This record gives sequence, structure tokens and C-alpha cells, in this order.
Amino acid sequence: MLHKNSRTPVTVAYGDGIGPEIMEATLRILDGAGARLDFERIEIGESVYKRGVSNGIEPASWESLRRTKVFLKAPITTPQGGGFKSLNVTVRKTLGMYANVRPCASLYPYVETKHPNMDIVIVRENEEDVYGGIEHRQTNQVAQCLKLISRPGSKRIIRYAFEYARANKRKKVTCFTKDNIMKITDGLFHRTFTEIAGEYPEIEHEHWIVDIGAAKMADTPEAFDVIVMPNLYGDVLSDVAAQITGSVGLAGSANIGDHCSMFEAIHGSAPRRAGQNLANPSGLLHGAILMLVHIGQAEVAEQVHNAWLRTMEDGIHTYDVFHEGASKEKVGTREFADAVIQRLGSKPVHLKPAEYDKEAQMNLAIRPAGKPPMKLRAGVDVFIDRRDGNPDQIAAVMTQFNVPGTKLTTISNRGTKVWPNGNPDTYWSDHWCCRFESDGELFTAGHIMKLLQAAEAAGFDVIKTEGLYTFNGERGYSLAQGE
Ligand code: NAD
Repeated sequence: MLHKNSRTPVTVAYGDGIGPEIMEATLRILDGAGARLDFERIEIGESVYKRGVSNGIEPASWESLRRTKVFLKAPITTPQGGGFKSLNVTVRKTLGMYANVRPCASLYPYVETKHPNMDIVIVRENEEDVYGGIEHRQTNQVAQCLKLISRPGSKRIIRYAFEYARANKRKKVTCFTKDNIMKITDGLFHRTFTEIAGEYPEIEHEHWIVDIGAAKMADTPEAFDVIVMPNLYGDVLSDVAAQITGSVGLAGSANIGDHCSMFEAIHGSAPRRAGQNLANPSGLLHGAILMLVHIGQAEVAEQVHNAWLRTMEDGIHTYDVFHEGASKEKVGTREFADAVIQRLGSKPVHLKPAEYDKEAQMNLAIRPAGKPPMKLRAGVDVFIDRRDGNPDQIAAVMTQFNVPGTKLTTISNRGTKVWPNGNPDTYWSDHWCCRFESDGELFTAGHIMKLLQAAEAAGFDVIKTEGLYTFNGERGYSLAQGE
């Protein structure tokens, strides 16, 4: 635990486009508010990419991040074209930042919005799901992307959402998944949510299927408070949530890990607005407010947040949110920062003042898992590439494989059962899944090898296999549609 008055080292990157201007404005406000921070500046982004560093960050910058463990980052420009990797994804994954937190609140009537009472926080899982980027093209017609959801990964993000709710006096945590379709992956996330919710009896919890949940959020955001989601849904819906507050230019986000964290605006480097003293620094300032809370300077965060609310309320607006009526003065980046600095120490009169619990602690420790379940192999899915395939012909050959202890039980194509008793209307791609299950005895790796040898001898192009397992007797694999 840091001493109350100790200074926190922070790595800062000024980024590209409007980045340097909004960073300069943000740091001036932090300084004016007496934030106890020592900055280490690093260079990231376009110039580093152009030096041939494919992920946009040099080794010396990693050293600074590992040392300070806190990163305040302005947006960068990702060069178009091949070979460049997303710096954000690299930093998040390398430094284990598993939680992305994005508060989205409307400022009606000072910023125009259809949702005057919106105040939600999206907590997005940041490392798993399809973002492993594990993709394969296996046949001429079919490519796949692996969706990985882990139990510890789900536990960590869901616990984070509940701890965040408790620390910020939020009343409800909602979970969005698509577990009516992805019963095993999203089902794991949903089950973990229900389990962890039980440890927070004072916080209401609910689950929505993501499609109707997203529709409800876009229509009636005031029905939600904290929403926790797997990575892909969170990526899409956190932008929707920010946009419907009235402007993406206002939101900040935090990426939190066990050891390191990164804070930023949600928007990009807006190169067309660069160097003109036009950009709104509010998004990055909100990233900085989240940072102050995270490093134990909640009283400074509260002061900055309230001065910002007062500035917005006083109608001092940059071009992106300026509108006749509520706005009084159209200002540039520097003047906006000056206006916030002048209001440090004051609170909004009409908008609800920001309030952060100075003593709040989050208990993010993950309890050790219990005894692992009994895992048994029940069979194997053998995937083959066959262009002019016909399920009855494939089955006619495979049922003659004669590997004792195994039997062909189904053939499916893109998840739909086509044998036995397929429907003639089902479309057949060149990607076939042939399921062999145990015929009484334990299904071993030896069975798989013999099946693969038999498949090769029969001229099948095997592209992959997937093991079929049960866990404490519960099936750990999906059935094909129609099976
Ligand atoms: P953008 O967010 O930079 O800009 C979209 C629009 O919003 C622009 O028209 C701009 O005028 C406006 N805008 C954005 N921020 C603003 C601000 N603070 N004040 C006033 N107006 C603002 O999105 P883009 O144009 O798609 O991307 C530009 C570059 O930013 C790309 O290279 C992209 O890869 C990068 N990018 C970086 C990050 C990041 O570093 N985290 C995030 C998104 C995009």
C-alpha cells in the first residue's frame, strides 16, 4: 500500500495526431489539481512503426512500463497496410490487462443525447474469446476462428465487475452472453457469473442474451448499471454505449491487470484535427480520472471530475459537442483545459457531482479452484476436406474402418447433422466433421491413431481432430444441429 502522500511514477505517451495536444491539456489539469505523479515519457506509435518496429513500441519503453506499471496513453495512428500489429492489443496482452472498464454517462442537457439518464459502466473481458486471433483456413471453402473462454479468465473479470460495483456503490451487475447458442463457452461465462454473484448478495444481478440485451441497452440504457461481457460483445457494445451518451469524444477507459494498468481515451488520433487546437481532451482526461482512482488518489480524481462537470455545465465546449442553446462558448483544447483548471475546487450545480469512495478497496483475489473434475475421453471428431462430398458415401467408407471400440455416430457439415438421416435441403461445404464415439470401452489415443491411419488409407484428407471429453460425466462437447 502506498503512503497517502507518496508520488506515483506513471509512464506517459503523447501519441499521434491530436494526441500531444490532448495529453498536454490533461497533464496541465492533473498538475493544477495537485496529482502526486512523476512522469516517464516514452515514444510509441506511428514514428516507431515507421522505424520498422512492427508492434509500435521499443524495448526501452517496455522497461518503463514494467517499472512504473501505470500507463497513461494518448491515441496513436496505426499505419495502414500489412505487417503492423495493434499496439493496444500487444500492450494489453503482454502485460496481462484482463479488464477493460468504460464508464458511459450522459450530460444532458449540456451534451445532446436521446438518453438523458444514462449512467452505465461496461466491463469487458480483454484477453480471451476470439481475440486470441487463432484462425485457420482448412479447406478451400471454410475458415475458422477459435473462441476460447476459460474458467479462471471468466472468474477474474466477473469478480472485477462485482468488486467495481461494490467500490463505486453501484446497485446492479448485468451479464450479456449468447449461451442459448454457445452453451459451452458462453455457458461457462454465464455459470461463473451466477456463481460469483452469490458472493455479493447486496448487489442485484441479472443475465440477458446479448442480442436483446444490446437492443435494450441502445433503447433504454437507464435500465442498466454495470454490464460485464466476454471480449467481442464488450468491444462492440462499449462503443455503442459511449456513442449514445452523445459523443465518443467524452469517454475514457481503463485496462486493468494484476500488476499493470493502462488508461486512455476511447477515440483515435483524429489526424485531420491535429495541430489546430480543436480537439476535445475530455476522453483522455476521463482516462486520467480512472487512473487516479486506481492508484489511490481518489480525492484528486473527484476534484478533477467535478471541475470538468462544472466546465461542461457552464457551456464551455469544444467544437465536437458545441450546440446552440446549451453551449455558451466554443473553445479550443488549451482554453478548455484552462477553464477546467479555473474550476478546480468547485462542483456542478445541476449535474450530479462525482463522488469516489476514498477508502474503497477491491478484493480481486481469486480463490483456488476446488478438486478438478474427472475427465474421460468419449470419442473424437475427425474433420476432413472433401470437395464433392456426399455424407452417405463418406459414411459408407468410414463405417468399414473396423477399429474395435469405436463407431461412427454422426457426420455434420458446418455444425448441422447430415448423416444419418440428413435433410436434402442442407447445404454441404467441403468441411466435414465425422464423429467417432466409444463403442463400450474407454476411448484411447490409440483408437484415434488407428482411425487416422484408416482415414488416410481410405484417401480422406484429414484437416484436424477434436477430442470429445466428459467432465464428471457431463458432456464437454456440443451436439450437431439436428443430432
Ligand atoms: P478517430 O476516433 O480518431 O476519429 C473519428 C472522428 O471523431 C473524427 O472525425 C474526429 O474528428 C472525431 N474525434 C475523435 N476524437 C476527437 C476529439 N478528442 N475531439 C474532437 N473530435 C474528435 O477515429 P479514426 O479516424 O477511425 O482513426 C484515426 C486513427 O486513430 C487511425 O489510425 C486509428 O487506427 C487510430 N485509433 C487509435 C486508437 C488508440 O490509440 N486507442 C483508437 C481508435 C483508433
